[in-house]
Amino acid sequence: MADIQRTLVLIKPDALQRELVGEVLSRFERKGLKMVAMKMMHLNEEVLADHYAHQKEKPFFSSLVKYMRQTPVVAVVYEGLGVINEVRKVVGATNPRDADAGTIRADLSMDIGSNMIHASDSVEASDVEIKRFFKDDELFTYEKLTDRFHFCW
Ligand code: UDP
Ligand code: MG
Repeated sequence: MADIQRTLVLIKPDALQRELVGEVLSRFERKGLKMVAMKMMHLNEEVLADHYAHQKEKPFFSSLVKYMRQTPVVAVVYEGLGVINEVRKVVGATNPRDADAGTIRADLSMDIGSNMIHASDSVEASDVEIKRFFKDDELFTYEKLTDRFHFCW
């Protein structure tokens, strides 16, 4: 059985501009995920340099930073059994052209430079990323009564 994990999602500026924030949140809601934090925030260059440190030497880095600063993003934390992988499955491959039909990136986007959404890719990354965007008191603890319908207890 997978462990209870937390994962960070950023709904990126193209989703805000295209009025698809509700659609994205709704896909996670329909999956049955438990949201434990959410806020809008403008990302500065320093935060983006940390968040995308693994892309810093790439030729697209400056356009990635520009894209991520076009509007505020919506930052969300989900919590649950094996949630990191579950969210990555719903999100789809980095390049929307390679993403499987039914995923957010395949269904709603067309280009790797505007792929709608970020999701943590490992336990190590989610720990660092959640701390990067949220203070401890912005993360909520509550019982999600519908868990019993999603997890056949
Ligand atoms: N990215 C890009 N061009 C590329 C590869 C990545 O613009 O050729 C951007 C894209 O927004 C992607 C982000 O850099 O989501 C981070 O890349 P990563 O490989 O971590 O993909 P992700 O974890 O978001 O699927
Ligand atoms: Mg990544």
